[in-house]
Amino acid sequence: MSETTALHALFGGTFDPIHFGHLRPVEALARQVGLQQVTLLPNNVPPHRPQPEASPAQRVAMVRLAIADLPLFHLDERELQRSTPSWTADTLAELRAERGDQQPLAFIIGQDSLLSLHKWHRWQDLLSLCHLLVCKRPGYATQMENARQQQWLDSHLTQDARALQRQPAGLIFLADTPLVAISATEIRQRRQHGQSCDDLLPAAVTAYINREGLYSQ
Ligand code: ATP
Repeated sequence: MSETTALHALFGGTFDPIHFGHLRPVEALARQVGLQQVTLLPNNVPPHRPQPEASPAQRVAMVRLAIADLPLFHLDERELQRSTPSWTADTLAELRAERGDQQPLAFIIGQDSLLSLHKWHRWQDLLSLCHLLVCKRPGYATQMENARQQQWLDSHLTQDARALQRQPAGLIFLADTPLVAISATEIRQRRQHGQSCDDLLPAAVTAYINREGLYSQ
């Protein structure tokens, strides 16, 4: 398959900090779907939302350290280079314009993000721009909140990973990924209470957090 048609996947997040709950499910998803490359897109958090504790530069540094030995992952800093909030639909529209109409594109989210997707800016546009690949996340419902949202989900679902390569956008794939009970919130809270986070994120990221004194007050 040529590079222009292979499914390209993007994974947005605040990554405050990046942790194994981000990396492990996406690695499993990549094996399941045959992804060669996943681009991580750290968010520029809108001013009216709670701000990340780490600065954009620190969040990027942690992502770089986390993926240094993982060739699957690449970093795209475009959302942080903007002065405006990150709207996923805008970023995807920009990537779609760069890659052309025929390039299969996918955006990776966790189950919690699927459940709240209808609150995202221009969420109805997302599936015209990309597929959605959903990783399992423990503690979140597997059904949508109401019949209308469930109908929307059902009408886009595919269980055929190859279908994601055959069309450029429009499908939702619920991946069979491992349940990893880790959140950045838990990591920040554990740090505040002086508890170890060793099993929750890569050692190089922990070392950076310690050096920078992050999440400790
Ligand atoms: P916070 O606790 O600060 O809200 P988070 O751990 O949820 O952060 P984000 O950077 O907000 O991490 O998440 C980015 C994406 O990663 C989202 O789509 C989210 O659903 C997904 N994600 C985060 N943690 C997990 C996990 N443990 N399992 C599966 N998906 C996850």
